[in-house]
Amino acid sequence: MTAEQFADRHIGPGPDDERRMLEAVGYGSVDELMDAAIPEVIRWHGTLDLPAPAGEREAIAELRALAADNTVAVSMIGLGYHGTHTPAVIRRNVLENPAWYTAYTPYQPEISQGRLEALLNFQTMVTDLTGLATANASMLDEGTAAAEAMTLARRASKVKSPVYVVDADALPQTIAVIAGRAEPLGIEVRVLDLDVEALPAEFFGLHLQYPGASGAVREHAGLVAAAHDAGALVTVAADLLALTLLRPPGEIGADIAAGTTQRFGVPMGFGGPHAGYLAVRAGLERMLPGRLVGVSRDADGNPAYRLALQTREQHIRREKATSNICTAQVLLAVMAGMYAVYHGPDGLRAIARRTHEAAARLAAGLRAGGVEVADVAFFDTVTATVPGRAAQVVAAAAQRNVNLRLVDADRVGVSCDETTTAAHVAAVWAAFGVDGVDGDVDAAVPASLARTSDFLTHPVFGSHHSETAMLRYLRRLADFDYALDRGMIPLGSCTMKLNATTEMEPVTWPQFAHLHPFAPEAQTAGYRRLIAQLEGWLAEVTGYDAVSVQPNAGSQGELAGLLAIRAYHRDRGEGHRDVCLIPSSAHGTNAASAVMAGMRVVVVGCDADGNVDLVDLDAKIDKHRDALAAIMVTYPSTHGVYETGIAQLCAKVHDAGGQVYVDGANLNALVGFAKPGKFGADVSHLNLHKTFCIPHGGGGPGVGPVAVRAHLAPFLPGDPVGGHVDGRPAISAARYGSAGILPIPWAYLRMMGADGLARATAVAVLAANYVAARLRQHFPVLYAGNKGLVAHECILDLRPLTKATGVSVDDVAKRLIDYGFHAPTMSFPVAGTLMVEPTESEDLAELDRFCDAMIAIRAEIDEVASGRWPAGDNPLANAPHTAAMVSADEWPHPYPRSVGAYPAGVDRAGKYWPPVRRVDGAYGDRNLVCSCPAPEAFEED
Ligand SMILES: *Cc1c(COP(=O)(O)O)cnc(C)c1O
Repeated sequence: MTAEQFADRHIGPGPDDERRMLEAVGYGSVDELMDAAIPEVIRWHGTLDLPAPAGEREAIAELRALAADNTVAVSMIGLGYHGTHTPAVIRRNVLENPAWYTAYTPYQPEISQGRLEALLNFQTMVTDLTGLATANASMLDEGTAAAEAMTLARRASKVKSPVYVVDADALPQTIAVIAGRAEPLGIEVRVLDLDVEALPAEFFGLHLQYPGASGAVREHAGLVAAAHDAGALVTVAADLLALTLLRPPGEIGADIAAGTTQRFGVPMGFGGPHAGYLAVRAGLERMLPGRLVGVSRDADGNPAYRLALQTREQHIRREKATSNICTAQVLLAVMAGMYAVYHGPDGLRAIARRTHEAAARLAAGLRAGGVEVADVAFFDTVTATVPGRAAQVVAAAAQRNVNLRLVDADRVGVSCDETTTAAHVAAVWAAFGVDGVDGDVDAAVPASLARTSDFLTHPVFGSHHSETAMLRYLRRLADFDYALDRGMIPLGSCTMKLNATTEMEPVTWPQFAHLHPFAPEAQTAGYRRLIAQLEGWLAEVTGYDAVSVQPNAGSQGELAGLLAIRAYHRDRGEGHRDVCLIPSSAHGTNAASAVMAGMRVVVVGCDADGNVDLVDLDAKIDKHRDALAAIMVTYPSTHGVYETGIAQLCAKVHDAGGQVYVDGANLNALVGFAKPGKFGADVSHLNLHKTFCIPHGGGGPGVGPVAVRAHLAPFLPGDPVGGHVDGRPAISAARYGSAGILPIPWAYLRMMGADGLARATAVAVLAANYVAARLRQHFPVLYAGNKGLVAHECILDLRPLTKATGVSVDDVAKRLIDYGFHAPTMSFPVAGTLMVEPTESEDLAELDRFCDAMIAIRAEIDEVASGRWPAGDNPLANAPHTAAMVSADEWPHPYPRSVGAYPAGVDRAGKYWPPVRRVDGAYGDRNLVCSCPAPEAFEED
């Protein structure tokens, strides 16, 4: 019996499809096509050294065995990671639901109203709980959110001093991430015990933890006022659950709040992914990094959501951006926001009270047994002093399946959460050797710190508390959106391929979901084996010597890679090398990351064919030879072309003493055919949420491993809690970053095997060339490489048509919605163009449906050109058409309703209707509203 091959399920086109596609492109076989497309200078002719592919059931069995080597203990370690009950209705209908997890970042707002509303709930939850004005739609984790808060303070403060003060009771991993980000920027981090040490005379920012890592809840208002007197900005890293009971940062004058929303129903996942948050007071919103959802209006004047203030972001501002963050943690933010919707303010308060009572009882029992417990206000965490006995207590607890925090030889930290039971508390008492107490105990939050203000008063947090209501709300929002479960999302550079169910299944298994990132090694053997295998396979695929999965997005991989280059130069006494060459076609994150790594960006132009201009490269290298640190190029280029000059480019940069960074976002065009680590590059990041099947989740999670050649291996990211030991900066708050989703790429690699991976690459290239071949006579394909072939994506040039007819790239993108498609990537890397990346997962029928739609749209543009339809009133200008619009009693437009609603080829029964008409982004930016609007806003006039 031959095992069913997973690759045949993952790859859309079957043998017949493939033959027809090859015919259209003009090649006899995919081998011939790949030989022609890929320049011989980079070609690798081996077979990847990977285990023979496993079938789906076999892979699941192997993952079960790995999971079995993890031990799920009761985690009372705390430090920003807590046990939580994911409501089953949210687990199954969000985390395990492709309608949510296969969506893309909501850049096309008309087809993203569901997740935009969910994110607006998240932002409202964060602003309400923190008492601040504006929150973004998620950060990567608490550590990086705190680091972003530091750089925000740097931009906003007028104080010249480079000193940033950090509370010694901040989370240790936060201190490590802050320190790692500060150093290349020339920021001097001063960690002070603010109970006894005075603030310095000059500093630009202050980071406080609330409650502290020790559990202590301090009255911070005095420090905040003192910092403001000195011209500094204050960040309060706050626990949102605690804020249901404690006076929020906004009410003590904080400028910024940062933290995580993990304990709002998101499993710990051995470190991630979870949604970090960042909120700011009024006046700082335009400096906020990351994505911000705002309310605007559509063409009918109805309220509609969209991403606000995008002009702040890296894809526009590049090296002047507020941050490099691109992929964030949308799926997890949706979960956390829905947790608040499901529980409502009273439910959250009750959870917080239960958590607090458990901690208070725990402390009372320890004290009754003669154990010294720090005499401070606390919320969920207590620190007990047991001179010389701490390790013994922690071990005794571990024997009872409870993990505690070993603070030092004399102190133990114990954290409670919503999952803490009386039995857990009793186990902790037993580990300390005390009997405990019965009955009620007093709360440990003094009235002066208690919260008196309301929160989550918007009706959305009061309307979905029954499971029926919640289920329907989730379904309603999901129905608003277009995700991969509806049809193709041909976004160039984003690689929206299949996220197979078998790959997704292990993510919610308890043995992967419920591990604390600082759990004892003995409990995490399965995870560490999975990660080691995955890192090994990724090294084999890329031709590098070492890989770290710590960066939790591509942007973070970029920063990690550039920091490795920086450390390498310094280690060799060439710390003066600080110029990073970046081609004009690069992704915006590249330049933003280079600045964060302390480098100066020098742009290299492109020639008429879209390739890096080697003449300009020579000139720039000559000019900056002694200061050259690196070049950052994407391969194949963001123009979708295999540039033949790449080997030469690498050699030129190396000759000048620089390092070569190849942005690996386009690895889907290389796997099995070329290895960046072998064709001249020194370091790359990969996007496991592109090439290796982690779903985009509507804008995250992602994983951006950094892969390096041996000479850079000593400079890979360090362990954020061992950071002071190994001296390497940490990039994320947890050692393995978003470990909880690593079973996805593991399963993909395990099931595809060497041949399956190579075939996926070849079919992805074939599909892009097929689309280019079919559309070329209707829209010029902007760039091509060898023999007129493109790589895994192609750019359609609309500029001549726009010039002739006024029909814009926007109009075409919106009209595609009427045809039942998500638009391709718009105006990146070239303004006025569409970049199409079909991937290997779409079959020929879907590719043809897309090409037919594009050809039909071209015919519509011709109708505008001919004057049959006026420029301002035609199906393109009015797209997308909503059901309300085409069924309205009046129809003033010069084309039939049916042309608006059901253009050629649209399946009437399966029609996707956008819930809003075209969204006016500029209006929303002028009238910025970033939390849930009052329900009256939706009333009909
Ligand atoms: C997606 C992408 C990135 C950024 O990756 P994120 O995971 O979104 O941070 C960088 N470079 C290129 C070319 C990309 O396509």
